[in-house]
Amino acid sequence: MPITIPVAKDFQIIGYIDLLTEEDGKRVITDWKTCKKRPNPDDVAQNMQLSTYNLAYPDAELRIAAVLKQKKPAVEFYPTTRTYDQRKRTVKTFCAVKQSIEAGVFYPREGWWCECCGFREQCKKDF
Ligand code: SF4
Repeated sequence: MPITIPVAKDFQIIGYIDLLTEEDGKRVITDWKTCKKRPNPDDVAQNMQLSTYNLAYPDAELRIAAVLKQKKPAVEFYPTTRTYDQRKRTVKTFCAVKQSIEAGVFYPREGWWCECCGFREQCKKDF
């Protein structure tokens, strides 16, 4: 489901929600994760994607659907919530990131995504 979230007067977040459903009259946002280990409660409580989607749908129920790549594969659901203060913090985080980008602040944040990053060579050279 495509979403556009106005974060501040001068910018918006554009993205996609993995799954948006209506269940028992309630809107439910599901973010799929494929993982070897079960997500821990902090991962679920602080998941930035769900926090961001919650800005677009503050009344929605949120959950991670973890596809566990284990000997016995399974799909497990991890429900979570966000408060008004958490949504406010998410907006402030986006604003801080935007200010950093505009100020030319950069530091590497490495992960699996580096594999397909177009700036990889430059990043290796600079750091
Ligand atoms: S390789 Fe790309 S994604 Fe990885 S840290 Fe450097 S700039 Fe970021």
